[in-house]
Amino acid sequence: MKIAVVGTGYVGLVTGTCFAETGNQVVCVDIDERKVKMLQGGEIPIYEPGLDVLFDRNVAEGRLQFTTNLSEGIKEAEVIFLALPTPPGEDGSADLKYILKVADDLGNILDHYAVVIDKSTVPVGTAEKVTAAIAKNAKVDFDVVSNPEFLREGVAVEDFMKPDRVVVGTTSAKAKKIMEKLYAPLVRQGNPVIFMDERSAEMTKYAANSFLAMKITFMNEIANLCEKVGANVDDIRRGIGTDSRIGKRFLFAGIGYGGSCFPKDVQALAKTSADYDYDFRILKSVMDVNYDQKKKLLPMVNSYFNNDLKGKTIAVWGLAFKPYTDDIREAPALENIEALLQAGAQVVVYDPEAMANVKGLLGDQITYCHTPYAALDDADGLMIFTEWPQFRTPEFDKMGKLLKNKVIFDGRNLYELEQMKELGYTYFSIGRGCVD
Ligand code: NAD
Repeated sequence: MKIAVVGTGYVGLVTGTCFAETGNQVVCVDIDERKVKMLQGGEIPIYEPGLDVLFDRNVAEGRLQFTTNLSEGIKEAEVIFLALPTPPGEDGSADLKYILKVADDLGNILDHYAVVIDKSTVPVGTAEKVTAAIAKNAKVDFDVVSNPEFLREGVAVEDFMKPDRVVVGTTSAKAKKIMEKLYAPLVRQGNPVIFMDERSAEMTKYAANSFLAMKITFMNEIANLCEKVGANVDDIRRGIGTDSRIGKRFLFAGIGYGGSCFPKDVQALAKTSADYDYDFRILKSVMDVNYDQKKKLLPMVNSYFNNDLKGKTIAVWGLAFKPYTDDIREAPALENIEALLQAGAQVVVYDPEAMANVKGLLGDQITYCHTPYAALDDADGLMIFTEWPQFRTPEFDKMGKLLKNKVIFDGRNLYELEQMKELGYTYFSIGRGCVD
């Protein structure tokens, strides 16, 4: 099949590369000339495990190409994916300007039947808006399908190649057939392609992300209560996660969710609810709790240093919003670093993948280190914001010698309390009481 992918970011590049891998002829389009130049030169602008192998193979075999020219990109394409940004607008709703701009352009240039697929996360009713925008000037027949993406950054290739399910919203029999053909190689193990109408597909994506954000947030509230009643949230997690109705995943307490999806999607669903005069009370609580949770470690830091961070050096491990990605959008680390800087602390950071992105944002306001241990050298304490595996079993003795104070503020509950006690650390974590 000939496929065009418009928008070559995290989702677009993975989508394009994976569909090339299943034998399709793919052209990825982006307006960012620097990005397209990098891709044409064989360089991947994001960090995503496993993507490089597929990317190299498909570029070498001529199935994966890149352009800034939309007309060239969609030439003869049977399907056209829109993997464009849908950032929150000022009122929290998803901003559709990128999508509708491309839809407008498509109306002017489309010269053959194509299925235009909304892969971006878009509010209910967007397929109709995209259809109207294309139809304004279109001289040919076309269908607009909603096909939300459920991949997780960090395991995006695996998620895309072996999806738990594929959700397709369409009422067109012709588009349905094409979508079945497109996804057949990815669901050979029997995972379902679930067909529904466009509005339900759009809603499914928001329901999934909001549910997961709620699950995390519920556990964070349990953790906060654990601190008050003297219980250990890790034990609660084990105790409830084994119940198959609850499930083991997304039960880890921490300093809140971040990333490019959960915060904006929960906000957008809340806005949709408001637009339809529905008071979605749980969503409001999820947003409120997560807002506070991201700053959960700061009072602990302040109290340890007697509310005087001036001149103190705080080491930070982990900047990305989660492990295995360089994505720092809405990462809890950023808010905390800003608060530390405002309080007069020096901040020295290490992250295996996300430092370049943070440098682009904060420049020389903080110091970047090439190893986790270098960040600890003469630091007054350590804060942990991302659960990269390499932080899980560090050399505690070495750390103790490098740090001025053996104190760790752990936003991801990486270490056992007993172990920290034995090693003589002062250890703050989430929902487990303090080890002193
Ligand atoms: P991104 O910002 O990484 O990529 C978007 C790309 O679109 C950028 O490269 C940008 O230059 C390009 N672009 C903007 N306007 C364009 C235009 N007119 N023509 C061509 N290209 C244009 O975003 P992303 O993380 O890939 O997310 C895309 C969508 O997918 C969003 O709606 C997001 O909510 C959704 N989504 C993201 C994830 C994720 O994990 N990142 C997962 C599922 C769904």
